[in-house]
Amino acid sequence: MTILDLGVPTVPAPGADRVDTSDRPRDGRLVDRFGRVATDLRISLTDRCNLRCTYCMPAEGLEWMPTEEALTDDEVVRLVRIGVEELGVREIRFTGGEPLLRKGLEDIVAATAALPQRPETSVTTNALGLARRARGLAAAGLDRVNVSLDTLRPERFAEITRRDRLDDVLHGLAAARDAGLGPIKINTVLMPGLNDDEAPDLLAWALAEGFELRIIEQMPLDAGHSWQRDRMITADQVLAALSERFKLTPDPAERGGAPAERFLVPGYERPDGGPARVGIIASVTRPFCGTCDRTRLTADGQVRTCLFARTENDLRGLLRGGGSDAEIADAWRVAMWGKKAGHGIDDPGFLQPDRPMSAIGG
Ligand code: SAM
Repeated sequence: MTILDLGVPTVPAPGADRVDTSDRPRDGRLVDRFGRVATDLRISLTDRCNLRCTYCMPAEGLEWMPTEEALTDDEVVRLVRIGVEELGVREIRFTGGEPLLRKGLEDIVAATAALPQRPETSVTTNALGLARRARGLAAAGLDRVNVSLDTLRPERFAEITRRDRLDDVLHGLAAARDAGLGPIKINTVLMPGLNDDEAPDLLAWALAEGFELRIIEQMPLDAGHSWQRDRMITADQVLAALSERFKLTPDPAERGGAPAERFLVPGYERPDGGPARVGIIASVTRPFCGTCDRTRLTADGQVRTCLFARTENDLRGLLRGGGSDAEIADAWRVAMWGKKAGHGIDDPGFLQPDRPMSAIGG
């Protein structure tokens, strides 16, 4: 009897999950072998963060990427341009680490917004410092922000993030709204015993403020590799908790590649007069890989086809080695052709990626 007969999970050899990409398309968009087309680029601008969320990073932080390894502003802008002009990218989300720590963010946004086929631009941020920068980011051409916030209680905020800065986040949010960076989405992760009793309060607050709350299932992407499936608050639990206070009805609008399952909250309106919504992102219990339209770039210029990918394709080497736009675009297509059908969290041999969420770009 072999190990396979026994169903014992094996550790894939390095490169074992690479696929033959010789039959990939040589031009056009970022397609994969399953017919999906990536039009949404998540690009990490730094692996550093000014919070230390317990479910993401250790108190002492991580070993940060040396500056010379990170893409320069010009390199980021060139990859964005290639993504948009050569590969059909339509949406760009700047993330991190904490993207507001990137000094050149406004310049990168301005260069992106100035592209003739202007993509939609957004930032995922913890909002620290957003109060100072929201207006400038809007002037640079940023369309909107997603703000991560797991609690509205100052003591809990300090406990979860290891920093006592809830007021700064709330000021950042107010500034983003004043600057017109909407619709503003609030990303929340619920954790048992920490903030899982707060979902209805967060929704009531978001509805009153005109924000769209999105509750995200916790994923195995923490630096400490301590995620446990049975310690995770599931989408079903979130829906049950919200339904105790709110009447929710499934949003009939086409979901497309959106990660959030959306629900309408009758009786409440969005700032633009449309019906208010809440989203639940069930990445673990109801994966949406089949409609995934994302491609990712790390701050050091590696393409990742999935948060959970265990392989990366290097674009920085090509950039710095004098590669042409066409060569870089082709290397990106190669990466996408190798995208797996699903994230594999449920596979018996699932291994968490080496990079934690903060170093991939959430
Ligand atoms: N610093 C920015 C922020 O706070 O939005 C961007 C990076 S942060 C890694 C992006 C998002 O990932 C945050 O909303 C955070 O809550 C979420 N996140 C981090 N670790 C996670 C995990 N293990 N599972 C689900 N979401 C996670």
